[in-house]
Amino acid sequence: MAIELNPGRIQTLIGEQTELLNARTTASKAMYERALHHLSGGVASSYQGRDPWPIYIESGKGDLIVDVDGNEYYDFHNGFGSMVQGHGHPAIGKAVAARYPLGTHFAAATEDSVVVAEELARRWGLPKWRFTNSGSESTMDAIRIARAYTGRDTVMKIFGSYHGHHDTVMVSIGVEYDKIGDRENLASLPYGAGVPQATVDMTIAVPFNDAPAMERRIERLDAEGRKPACVIMEPAMMNLGVVLPEPGYLEAVRDITSRHGIVLIFDEVKTGLTIAAGGAVEKFGVTPDMVTLAKALGGGLPSGAIGGTEEVMALVEDGTVYQVGTYNGNPLSMAASRASLFEVLTPEAYEHLGALNDRIVKGCQEIIDKYDLPGYAVGIGSKGCVTFSSAKIVDYESFKQNQFPALCELAWLWNMNNGIFMTPGREEEWTMSVVHSFDSVDKYIEVFDGFAAAITSD
Ligand code: PMP
Repeated sequence: MAIELNPGRIQTLIGEQTELLNARTTASKAMYERALHHLSGGVASSYQGRDPWPIYIESGKGDLIVDVDGNEYYDFHNGFGSMVQGHGHPAIGKAVAARYPLGTHFAAATEDSVVVAEELARRWGLPKWRFTNSGSESTMDAIRIARAYTGRDTVMKIFGSYHGHHDTVMVSIGVEYDKIGDRENLASLPYGAGVPQATVDMTIAVPFNDAPAMERRIERLDAEGRKPACVIMEPAMMNLGVVLPEPGYLEAVRDITSRHGIVLIFDEVKTGLTIAAGGAVEKFGVTPDMVTLAKALGGGLPSGAIGGTEEVMALVEDGTVYQVGTYNGNPLSMAASRASLFEVLTPEAYEHLGALNDRIVKGCQEIIDKYDLPGYAVGIGSKGCVTFSSAKIVDYESFKQNQFPALCELAWLWNMNNGIFMTPGREEEWTMSVVHSFDSVDKYIEVFDGFAAAITSD
């Protein structure tokens, strides 16, 4: 039985650590005050915001970044897991520099896009690919293709999962515990304002790690004449810390969707290229009908991809579905992706990430055990986290039931004040890069040890 943490002590530490971080980031404060005049909320995306002000970054090199106050951090945020190559990787820099004088945009395909598609087909075992500029575009287009392929409108997703910021998937995310609804009929709720109710009603959410519940909901929807076109899901949930699929779950989902003629989309925007060379498909050995990629694909340049079977992608090829975009397959992004795939994200790189992950997970778990903390360490490939919960988290409901927001906030502040950059204000995982070393991992573990000592002392 883990020890009971003292909420008063945590609040006191939050106060102290907030003051400390505020004092260390006065240039960020000044930048924020200036930014507020013309950059809405002071940031380019609401996910970059933070109270009382965001931390503005000046530069990054390898596994380190420097903020505008000159504070240096080991980067474990890595741009929401996009920078698995590390910052300023020379191979990617060389490819981008070589491409620039040859022209950066034609809205016509270049050889690099052919080579990248060939390599993704090899890694994922899906024959046909298209490119986009972001994860949202990838999931939006994949869902449209699935709707066209099946002639149906309803979309099934996993309750609590994030798939980008287009209307269809901005449903049933970040919901309060008492609004989740009955497990057999989980609520469809808009994530923020501006999403049409008609769209919300077309998106149905089911619990992660519960294949029978998924099948029962599909059967009821079918009986109502609104069978789903697709199931879109992360094969491992990456926005509640890390929630892995239980053994047999993905195989069961594959079987259910095949039997019901529903397109299965694995959203690998986070897992793709970070947990294995061929993402979750390689790691778990289950192949969906479509895969969506983004984030790490472009090695820091905006890019995304959709992979699919011959059958579903035929609708793109014959012009039934318009899969389009001015910047799709942009030459700079494709040059960066090619260099990343062939020179950076090599088999040796994944071996290294695996070794780092073993060390960080083991190190964090030892500290949890030493201090008898309520929690556990979980990791896969370059990603992982410490989940502050005595009970195992298997889906959104169990996550919400056991969430410890104050401790997560304190962990973030503590990390920041001790040279570890993490995603602010959310239960996000760490992402290590191929240039992280045992030193950076040991620093993470050492800082976590200090944190554990602080929260358990009187
Ligand atoms: N899918 C998943 C699983 C994601 O985590 C994200 C972004 N966090 C997206 C899609 C959307 O990607 P983007 O922000 O590039 O639009």
